[in-house]
Amino acid sequence: MTELRWHPLLREWVGVAAHRQNRPQMPKDCCPFCPGSGRVPDHYDTILYPNDFPAFSPDNPPFEDYPGLFHSTGARGSCDVVIYHPGHTMLPSQMPAEHWRKVVDLWCERSAQLYANPDIACVCIFENTGEAVGVTMPHPHGQIYAFPFTPPLIERELHSAREYYDANHACLYCRLLAEELSAAKRIVLESPDFVAFVPFHARWPGEMQIYPRKHLGDLNALSDTEKNDLAAIVKAVRLKYDNLWGFAIPLMMMVRQRPVRGHSPYFHLHIEFYPIQRSPTKLKYLAGVESGTGTFLNDTSAEEKAAEFRGTIPKSVNFSED
Ligand SMILES: [Zn+2]
Ligand SMILES: [Zn+2]
Repeated sequence: MTELRWHPLLREWVGVAAHRQNRPQMPKDCCPFCPGSGRVPDHYDTILYPNDFPAFSPDNPPFEDYPGLFHSTGARGSCDVVIYHPGHTMLPSQMPAEHWRKVVDLWCERSAQLYANPDIACVCIFENTGEAVGVTMPHPHGQIYAFPFTPPLIERELHSAREYYDANHACLYCRLLAEELSAAKRIVLESPDFVAFVPFHARWPGEMQIYPRKHLGDLNALSDTEKNDLAAIVKAVRLKYDNLWGFAIPLMMMVRQRPVRGHSPYFHLHIEFYPIQRSPTKLKYLAGVESGTGTFLNDTSAEEKAAEFRGTIPKSVNFSED
C-alpha cells in the first residue's frame, strides 16, 4: 500500500510505496503481457491490465487534503497498464496507425470511466520506453495513472492557462500553436487535425509536442476522424524518433487532458514527448541543476532539432508515398 506524504517546503505530495522496491526483474522467458502467460487472454489486440504494484489503488484509504507538517494520507486512485500489442518485441513505432487507433480507443474508454469517478482529480496517460528510462518490461505498453489530486506540473500548467484565459479571453495553447505555425521553423509534421513541433521552450533534447488544431480539452472530445488522425501522427512521430539515429530512443510520452473536476475551458489536449537521448551515444540525465533547482539545461536548439526531424523519414503523416 502506498501513502502520500505532504512536502511542506515544496507544497507537493510524495508517494511512498515501499513494496515497489521489491518489483521483480522479469526473467526473459516469462512475460505476463504475452498471450499464453495465463495472465492475459490468449488472443487480444490491445488490453488494459491492472498494475501488479500500483502506486494508487481504489483499495487504499481515501485521500484527505489538509496539508500539515508531517501529514500523510491515503493514495486512493488507480494504476492501469495499457498493453499495446500482443507481440513481445513489437516497437510502438512499428505498430500500424490502425493499431495505434485501438490504443487511442482504450485511452478514451478508460478515461471516460475515470472521469466519472468522484475519487479522481487527474487522469495521466503516459508511456516510459527503453531500459534507460528504467523500464523492466520490453513488451510494448503504456500506463494510466488516476490521481486523487492534481500533480504539481499539471497544476502549474493549468494556472498559466487560466491566467492567460482570464486576461485574454483566449486559449494559451491555441495562441502558442498559431505562433509556431506562423514561425514554421519548429514545425515537424502536420496533418488535417494535428500539428507536431519542437516547442520554442523545449526542456528535453528533441522534445516534441502534438496539439490538435481544434480547441479540445480531452480525448473523448475527439471525433472518429480526429482519433484516426491522432493515431497516424503519433505513429509518424514515433517513427521519426526511432529513425533519427537508427535505434529506438528511450523516451517518455505524456498525454495531457483537462482536469477531472470543475470547468476548465482554458485547457487544451496535447501530447508531450521527452526523449532522454541527447546524441547517438549520450543520455540526458536529470542531474544537479535539473533535480535540485527545477531549471532544465537543454544543449540542443529547438530549431535545429526540428530541422533534423523534418529531414528524417517519414516526411509526412500519411507516408506511404515517402
Ligand atoms: Zn511479452
Ligand atoms: Zn486551445
